[in-house]
Amino acid sequence: MDSEQLREYGHRMVDFIADYYKTIETFPVLSQVQPGYLHNLLPESAPDHPETVEQVLDDVKAKILPGVTHWQSPSFFAYFPINGSIAGFLGEMLSAGLNTMSFSWVASPAATELEIVVVDWVAKLLNLPEQFLSKGNGGGVIQGSACEAILVVMIAARDKVLRSVGKKALEKLVVYSSDQTHSSLQKACQLAGIHLENCRVLKTDSSTNYALRPESLQEAVSKDLEAGLIPFFLCGTVGTTSSTAVDPLAALGKIAKSNEMWFHIDAAYAGSACICPEYRQYIDGVETADSFDMNAHKWLLTNFECSLLWVKDQSALTEALSTNPEYLKNKASQANLVVDYKDWQIPLGRRFRALKLWMVLRLYGAENLKSYIRNHIKLAKIFEQLVSKDPNFEVVTPRIFSLVCFRIAAVDNDEKKCNNLNRSLLDAVNSSGKLLFSHTILSEKFVLRFAIGAPLTEEKHVKEAWKVIQEEASFLLSK
Ligand code: PLP
Repeated sequence: MDSEQLREYGHRMVDFIADYYKTIETFPVLSQVQPGYLHNLLPESAPDHPETVEQVLDDVKAKILPGVTHWQSPSFFAYFPINGSIAGFLGEMLSAGLNTMSFSWVASPAATELEIVVVDWVAKLLNLPEQFLSKGNGGGVIQGSACEAILVVMIAARDKVLRSVGKKALEKLVVYSSDQTHSSLQKACQLAGIHLENCRVLKTDSSTNYALRPESLQEAVSKDLEAGLIPFFLCGTVGTTSSTAVDPLAALGKIAKSNEMWFHIDAAYAGSACICPEYRQYIDGVETADSFDMNAHKWLLTNFECSLLWVKDQSALTEALSTNPEYLKNKASQANLVVDYKDWQIPLGRRFRALKLWMVLRLYGAENLKSYIRNHIKLAKIFEQLVSKDPNFEVVTPRIFSLVCFRIAAVDNDEKKCNNLNRSLLDAVNSSGKLLFSHTILSEKFVLRFAIGAPLTEEKHVKEAWKVIQEEASFLLSK
């Protein structure tokens, strides 16, 4: 590594990225390329001799950017946006620069220790119960994604119960969630060897705004117990993917506790909002949980990936996930003096992800992070009001955070026609490249999702987006 070359190329790369952000609004938000487009544009094999950074960056401009969907565009309103910030970017850069491999404490002590500090900081911002902090049996860890978080806690919970009832009982273990729970739960069940017929996906409906009813859970658990099965894992969600429904944590936690189930809370998107005192109520009941997860990369200005998982009993994770090969043995680990995060996650290797979160927390400060969240929620309220005022549209579920679920209102009482119309509206608007939003299905209705959470989004982008949606809807309705 030639430091002067790094300086020169590094500056050039930063200029390139800065120019990208400066011109980001000139790109169609949704990439317009067709499948396989890149194959024809690139050589069949890697170059035999070095090329220059300029050549590569020219190709990025000409060949890669057209195939990029611009998640950082201020007109990106799809799925749940992922956040980037200068602070997060600088932290990523530093992490790439140091390029450590911090699987165990000794492999890079600062990486582990900074992670413990920053996840504790965020736990305090969220006012999580003390048991989730690192000073006792609990603690937090940065996972790559909320999906990984669910998988590791499910494996921890599975092994904990199997240690007491015997390994043969695996086929009796039952998992509970609602039909709004993220699909990562299903994947976790598959990977953890849970029999799919033992996954209870409990039905929700509009009467609870798609939150899981404790009575449904209780009923399912009782039935399973009668059948000789073993309820062992419950996943509750704060801010479901489709419509940001909030499950009643305290009531669910009570049922989980009385049946000795592991209770995991997935707050991947909405968890960030709970650093604001006025939104903290949505995680009331978290004290009943065994684990809690939120994605700083979704809505807390930290570049992907940065999913924060806290557990009350870290030994449940380490007992399920530890390995101790000779080549990694060291005094600090043997003496049990340190945290070795390799035993809290699936892979061995891990990046120094705490740096970017530390940068974000320090360069913004908690008050600015709260304002950031509040601003997105304010913009979502504006969008919601615009939708409500237009008789062609309806808001489908009450908005809680920064997602608005809406659609063209029923046409001629014909649901099928209405669904098709909304689908056409989504396709037409998205293919225009002017903005990007997404959809879901709720109670068999095709519902449009407008999620505000891109860092560059301002009121003008929301209003412009609404104008495009409204115009396209008028056109479709006039046909
Ligand atoms: N859980 C919820 C509620 C989500 O909305 C999502 C993604 O949108 C996930 C989990 C998955 O997150 P990740 O991409 O970090 O695995």
